[in-house]
Amino acid sequence: MSDCLFCKIANGDIPTEFLYEDDKVVAFKDIEPQAPHHILIIPKEHIDSALEINDANCDIPGHVFMVASKLAKELGFAQDGFRIVNNCGRDGGQTVGHLHFHILAGRYLQWPPG
Ligand code: 5GP
Ligand code: ZN
Repeated sequence: MSDCLFCKIANGDIPTEFLYEDDKVVAFKDIEPQAPHHILIIPKEHIDSALEINDANCDIPGHVFMVASKLAKELGFAQDGFRIVNNCGRDGGQTVGHLHFHILAGRYLQWPPG
C-alpha cells in the first residue's frame, strides 16, 4: 500500500534498522518505547488489522510468535518474560493501519492494560 507508514518501513522506503527480517516479516524498535524493550513485528504484506486475518494469511500470527520467541532468547528477556500485544481498531488503540504486534519487555507489565 503506497501511503502506508509500515509498508514504507518494510520495503525500505523509510530506512529503519531491522532486528530481524525474513521473507514474511520484519522487526524493528518502536519509535516511542513503552518499556526497555519495545519491538514491533509486522508482516511485509499489507494487512489492515487482525480483522483481515483469513485462511490465506493466518500463518502470519504464528510466524510472528515464533519470531518473538527467537528475539526474546537473543535479546535476553526470555527468562524474565514479555508481552505480545496486538491492538485492533479504534477501541483497541490501533493507530497505524498495518497489522503489527508489540513485544514489550524489560520491566514488570501491569495487568490489565488501561
Ligand atoms: P498501535 O497504537 O497502532 O498499536 O501502535 C503503533 C506503534 O507504532 C506505536 O507504538 C508507535 O510508537 C509506533 N510508531 C509510529 N510511527 C512509527 C515510526 O515511524 N517508526 C517506528 N519505529 N515506530 C512508529
Ligand atoms: Zn501497510
